[in-house]
Amino acid sequence: MYSNSLIELDRAHLVHPVASYRGHEKLGVRVLASASGATVTDASGKQLIDGFAGLWCVNAGYGHESIVEVATRQMRDLPYATAYFGLGSEPAIRLASELAERAPGNLDHVYFTLGGSDAVDSTIRFIRYYWIARGEPQRDQFISIEQGYHGSSTVGAGLTALPLFHAGFGIPFDWQHKIPSHYAYRNPVGDDPQAIIDASLAALRRKVEEIGPERVAAFYAEPIQGSGGVLVPPKGWMKAMRNLCHELGILFVADEVITGFGRTGPLFACEEDEIVPDLMTVAKGLTSGYVPMGAVFMGDHIYQTIADSAGAAAVGHGYTYSAHPVSAAVGLEVLKLYENGLLDNGRKAGARLMAGLEGLKDHPLVGDVRGRGMLAAVELVTDKEKKTPLPAAADPARRIFDRAWENGLVIRAFANGVLGYAPPLCCTDADIDAIVERTRKVLDETLADPDVR
Ligand code: PMP
Repeated sequence: MYSNSLIELDRAHLVHPVASYRGHEKLGVRVLASASGATVTDASGKQLIDGFAGLWCVNAGYGHESIVEVATRQMRDLPYATAYFGLGSEPAIRLASELAERAPGNLDHVYFTLGGSDAVDSTIRFIRYYWIARGEPQRDQFISIEQGYHGSSTVGAGLTALPLFHAGFGIPFDWQHKIPSHYAYRNPVGDDPQAIIDASLAALRRKVEEIGPERVAAFYAEPIQGSGGVLVPPKGWMKAMRNLCHELGILFVADEVITGFGRTGPLFACEEDEIVPDLMTVAKGLTSGYVPMGAVFMGDHIYQTIADSAGAAAVGHGYTYSAHPVSAAVGLEVLKLYENGLLDNGRKAGARLMAGLEGLKDHPLVGDVRGRGMLAAVELVTDKEKKTPLPAAADPARRIFDRAWENGLVIRAFANGVLGYAPPLCCTDADIDAIVERTRKVLDETLADPDVR
């Protein structure tokens, strides 16, 4: 086991994100010590396959010396440069330009943040600025989707539509609205793709009507809803929603914080969805989690409107660490890795992962298997006919996470008995096969657990 003193120090001083503080105090921390490829090692020497790439972020996998080298070199040469006062650094300028070149359509302007939450927050600020600049200041209402996740900032958490992120915090605000998710496995209209698309279109039309069409600023969608349980919309859903936003004259924001950088196959999921959003957010895979960084891509029309309106005045939005040179240097190196084999490997490994997980459908607990590329979920039920979720009182997420850990596997265990997968794109065939085999063991042990039936 780990040193008791580390557990005690953690218990006394480290406040963990999205944790039951009292539950965590009781259980104690699990300390990770090192990692390589898709394998992490804890402080007791136990090795596990990281089927979740940290928090859907270490897309390149662990232990890339070339990333360590560029970060070290950049720290030596110029560890920090503000992008205020008209200053800049070469890595940040080059990264913005490389990204703009690869981003869909006219998403030519890149605003760097520290992660995904402040990227989402920044879009809200830019969108408000845009509509005020356009002479429509009344467009201050925002719409997102049930089960959606758009970060944990004070404002962005209100676009997030997971009750856990609202409870006790006094959000969402009254200008933040939701429409139902496309969640195919539990959709009241059934699982027919066109019926689901039609239902979402009708729901958005209805919501815009209800709010007042002249008041709506923007609609937010993830190409695949991640934290809501890896909910994959039918093919054509993003395009249909994007087109409707166009028709209704409201901005469309694609939140690619999880789906960006090869997670679903291409560099951006929007490519496969064949859409160009007005704004797009990314983080996680941008630096593969080695250092923090996120970004907002702005369509040229958004950028030019804001720039024209501000004229000689500054647009008052910025962070000390906007366009951080070390993060940008890492971003440039990671981009090279994606294009020198990682995206290809991710696509191959993703197909193997999906085939492997599909093979678990015969298990009595498996109600649904879904995913795209290296992003997948297995939804457990106690009755396949009735789609009965595992009993919440048994805390299935904790039990499943613990069992996976004991079996040498890290996965995301969602509260409702959904297992989430987002392995590093560098996974070998053996890594993927181990993820699937260990999952089957977890399922068998869960089936044998009388409290979870
Ligand atoms: N948007 C989406 C779609 C996300 O999945 C996340 C994080 N899981 C965020 C925003 C927030 O990103 P961060 O945790 O880096 O602030």
